[in-house]
Amino acid sequence: MKRMLSGIKPTGRVTLGNYIGAIKPFVSYQNEYEMIIFIANLHSMTIYQKPKDLRQNTKDLIALYLAAGLDPEKVTLFLQSDVLEHAQLGWYLGCMVNMGELSRMTQYKMQVEKAAARKDASIGAGIFNYPSLMNADILMYDPDYVPVGEDQKQHVELARNIAERFNSRYSDTFKLPEPLTPKVGGRIMSLQDPTSKMSKSDPTGKGCIYILDPINVSKKKIMSAVTDSDSTIKYDKENKPGISNLLEIYSILGKKSIPEIEAMYEGKGYGEFKKDLAEIVGEELQKIQDRYQEIVSGNYIDEILEKGAENARRMARKKLAKVERKMGITIKKR
Ligand code: ATP
Ligand code: MG
Repeated sequence: MKRMLSGIKPTGRVTLGNYIGAIKPFVSYQNEYEMIIFIANLHSMTIYQKPKDLRQNTKDLIALYLAAGLDPEKVTLFLQSDVLEHAQLGWYLGCMVNMGELSRMTQYKMQVEKAAARKDASIGAGIFNYPSLMNADILMYDPDYVPVGEDQKQHVELARNIAERFNSRYSDTFKLPEPLTPKVGGRIMSLQDPTSKMSKSDPTGKGCIYILDPINVSKKKIMSAVTDSDSTIKYDKENKPGISNLLEIYSILGKKSIPEIEAMYEGKGYGEFKKDLAEIVGEELQKIQDRYQEIVSGNYIDEILEKGAENARRMARKKLAKVERKMGITIKKR
């Protein structure tokens, strides 16, 4: 069985973008692949998190994975902070990456631009360094694939480069992972500004649908999503980004191809299309929210995380020991 790995940060309330781009695809992969999924709480620290919110977001994220249908018997699900080896391998790999490579990462460049706009030069060092930790997260488990939204592809490329560098400097140690981006739904956009990504850390929350929001709020957000002035329902990302984004959401949650949907709404207006989409989104969210309530009222999250961490630690210890032997860190004979 091929192996897949992915992480998600507990940085805010989970959005429809996270659900479509990450959570839902994992659930569909769990029968075909060996899946390793972690809550990237070390990464969430690059930006200040209120402890109370961090705790709540972490719990919600786990419960939502389970509510979306992830089976902890099949999948290794754990908290990144429970497996100390991530931080240690992150340090070693951080010593192999160049400042130039880190400066070219989109997330960092965005922070530099934002800081310049605020006329405030301070940027946390974590924002600059975190790709090293992410390289460790990925390479630790030798995954074949890393399913990611478009925004994360660059990280998998960097992990491949660092794996190659390590393998050629020492000897073959890390597998080169492949990014896996869905053809549709890899980048769900904000409903209010369809040129920017829907992100859970967006402080305004405008244009985000949150999975745990009341259903009528989410429906309203669909009804008031920004669209363009002509009223044909046609997929054209460049000229009609708003309607194209809604078509992607419809396609995934309504289980129909985009041309099929276009044909269904030929000669019909945006209002009718949005009303149907609001129903589809509402139904999907209702199902997840019902399961979520059952899960949080039960008491098995701790147990699932402990079992997941144990499993992950076993793999991580073995990998780290190998890395340390190769680098000459370990002096003990085997
Ligand atoms: P943050 O704003 O804190 O970066 P985020 O919403 O971008 O939050 P991440 O934790 O960075 O979420 O990413 C979790 C997973 O969700 C990743 O696999 C990422 O590619 C995917 N993802 C994030 N946003 C979207 C989106 N708008 N559309 C599709 N996939 C997304
Ligand atoms: Mg992100």
